[in-house]
Amino acid sequence: MKKSSYTAVGGLLIALLLICGCQGAPKSVQPVLPNQDLLYQVSTINALMQGVYEGETTYGQLQDKGDLGIGTFEALDGEMVMVDGVFYQIKADGKVYPVKPEMIAPFADVTYYSADQTITLSNIDGVANLQKAIDPLITNRNLFCAIRIDGTFSYIKVRSVPAQVKPYPLLSEAVQNQKVFEYQNVEGTILGFWSPDFINGINVPGYHLHFISKDRTIGGHLLDCKVSQAQVGVDVTDDFTLDLPKNQAFSQSDLARDQTSEVQKVER
Ligand code: ZN
Repeated sequence: MKKSSYTAVGGLLIALLLICGCQGAPKSVQPVLPNQDLLYQVSTINALMQGVYEGETTYGQLQDKGDLGIGTFEALDGEMVMVDGVFYQIKADGKVYPVKPEMIAPFADVTYYSADQTITLSNIDGVANLQKAIDPLITNRNLFCAIRIDGTFSYIKVRSVPAQVKPYPLLSEAVQNQKVFEYQNVEGTILGFWSPDFINGINVPGYHLHFISKDRTIGGHLLDCKVSQAQVGVDVTDDFTLDLPKNQAFSQSDLARDQTSEVQKVER
C-alpha cells in the first residue's frame, strides 16, 4: 500500500517534469497556408440575376479568401475588383473608391492568384480576340481559371451600375441604367475568371473580366478592349467553395430556372 502510493507520487513527479520539459522546449509550429487553388464564391449568378443584391458576407470576411477577385456590393452599388489583396469599389461614376471591411458582398469570386502559365500579347483588337488568344491556355475546360492581364491598352470600354433601391429590379433591368466609360491609352490590369460550362446558373460560363487602371483611379466590368502590349497569366483553380446567403430574398428565388441567355446579355 505504502509502496504503491510512493510509486504514484513518483509517477506524478515524472509526468510534471515531462510537461514542464515540453513547455520549455522550442516549438516547431507549421504555418497554416490557405489553399491557393480555391475559388471562394459568394451567392450564385442566378440569384444576382433575380435581384438578390443583399447578403451577409462582408468584405472583411473575404479578405483572407484570396488576393484577386471580382464581384459587386449591397444594392448593386458598383463593380468590385480585388487586385494584389486590396478590394476596390468602382461606382457608377467610373471612379475607384476604397472598400470598408463591413461592406457587404452579395456576389463575389476571390482566389489566391499565382500564374501557372504566362504569355505576352501585343496588338490585339477587341475583347473577343483577346479571349481567343487566352483560350489555348485553358487546357482543362472542366476547371476554373483565374486570369490576370497586366499591360497597356490603347482602348478600354467598361461599365458600372448605380445603386438600386428596394424592391430591387432584376439584373437585366438594373443594367439598363449602366454607365459606360471608354478610355484611350491606359495602363492597368484586366482580371477575373474563366468558368466551365457546367457551372451555368451558379457562375458565368466562360470569361468574366473586370478592369482597374494602374493608378487605381478608373475601372469597371470589361465590355471591350484593344491590347497594345500585355502579360497574360492563367491560374488553374480546382477547388470551389460556395458561400450561400441566408436571407429571405435568396431563399425565395427560383435559382434552378434557366437564365443562360439573360446572363449572356447582362455580362457581355
Ligand atoms: Zn462583372
